[in-house]
Amino acid sequence: MRIAVVGGTGYVGLTTAVCLATKNHLVHCVGRNEKKIEKLREGRPIIYEEGLEEMLKEVLKSGRFAPSTGLRNAVQNSEVIFICVGTPSRDDGSIDLSQIERASEQIGGALRAASNYQVVVMKSTVVPGTTEELVLPLLERFSGKNVGSDFGLCMNPEFLREGQAIEDFIHPKEQGIIIGEFDQRSGNVLAEIYREFEAEILRTSIPVAEMIKYARNAYLAKDVSFANEIANICQRLGVDYLAVKRGLEMDARIGEGRFLDAGAGFGGSCFPKDVKAIVAKVEECGFQPLMLRSTLKVNETQPIELVRLAKQVLSDLKGKRICVLGLAFKPGTDDVREASSIRVVESLLAEGCKVNVYDPKAEDNARKIFGERVEYAKGAKEALRDSDACIIVTEWPEFSNPQLYFAMRGKVIIDGRRSLNFKKLPHGFTYHAIGFPKAVKT
Ligand code: NAD
Repeated sequence: MRIAVVGGTGYVGLTTAVCLATKNHLVHCVGRNEKKIEKLREGRPIIYEEGLEEMLKEVLKSGRFAPSTGLRNAVQNSEVIFICVGTPSRDDGSIDLSQIERASEQIGGALRAASNYQVVVMKSTVVPGTTEELVLPLLERFSGKNVGSDFGLCMNPEFLREGQAIEDFIHPKEQGIIIGEFDQRSGNVLAEIYREFEAEILRTSIPVAEMIKYARNAYLAKDVSFANEIANICQRLGVDYLAVKRGLEMDARIGEGRFLDAGAGFGGSCFPKDVKAIVAKVEECGFQPLMLRSTLKVNETQPIELVRLAKQVLSDLKGKRICVLGLAFKPGTDDVREASSIRVVESLLAEGCKVNVYDPKAEDNARKIFGERVEYAKGAKEALRDSDACIIVTEWPEFSNPQLYFAMRGKVIIDGRRSLNFKKLPHGFTYHAIGFPKAVKT
């Protein structure tokens, strides 16, 4: 099929565009930044995702992947148009739909000249009602056409996880595929694209598809905040959360939840923004979603727990040299949006610390947030050198090597992810972690 992906320079858009091109579709990958598009044409991915560079080179070579800023041409030459633009939070937590509005107007304008039936698919995460009440009227107004008879409309939420985005997109078996359809004809066209994907497909209405995305993210975010709250309780009562977690997972009613790890809290471009957006949306209706508000509240304070643990060991942080390992919101990505590292670093700076940071992939994005207020190291060893304490915020596998920590001066490690086996540390270290009963000396 001929496909246009609008928002093709973002995490979801680029993954969608490249993966669909590997499935033999002809994909126009549409962005609005000429420099980024130029990089894509040269085979240089503009985000970090495992395996993306190789796939990008392969699809460019095949001639099935065309990056461009020419939205009109791309839309007019496609049967299906995916909208993958950003839906960030506004200052009050509500969803900012300005990119969606602009993209809908532009796509509508381009549909005007088309003579064939085309289907527009909303892949961005949008609060229930957005696709039918905002996007649909804009498409109709700017195209002068009618949905249903002249063009189709679907909502197809994306569940890929950064760090394993390609694997999740190509093998969506665990999460399934949701097709919210305006009518059967629209849904049939989208279902054809997913025909050879091995996954259950649920076909439903557009608002249900929109809400499923929020319900899933709210459910998982709630699990993380639950785990963190229980770990914080354990810590104060002198109990080891890791052992408690094993007991939780033994219970079939709870199951082996992969979201029961306690740590520095959730970040990224989905959980925080999506929970805030659905809270703001439903509060407009006069309903107070108490559990979701608490989920956010626990998460806001969780990164500060790490700084509290550092203070517990060092008593005064002023003037101390603290190394922060990991800035991305999780391993495997360069994305720092709403990462726990931001709160940890800001809090350390407010305490008067000198902060050295290192992340294998996220330095460039972190520089946009911290500027020159922190020192950036080229490797973990360099970041740890002469530091009084180290806080592990993101569990990149390389940080679990105990040999790394020899370079430290102060030998205090605060493990925000329980990723380091403290029993393997050499003599003389003080180790503390979230949900750990008390600091231990090795
Ligand atoms: P992003 O900010 O990385 O990418 C959005 C891209 O759209 C940007 O590159 C922007 O330049 C481009 N864009 C905006 N308007 C455009 C226009 N008119 N024409 C062409 N390009 C345009 O965002 P993202 O992380 O890829 O997320 C996109 C959507 O997918 C959001 O709604 C998000 O909530 C959802 N989502 C994200 C993830 C994730 O892990 N990042 C997972 C599932 C769903």
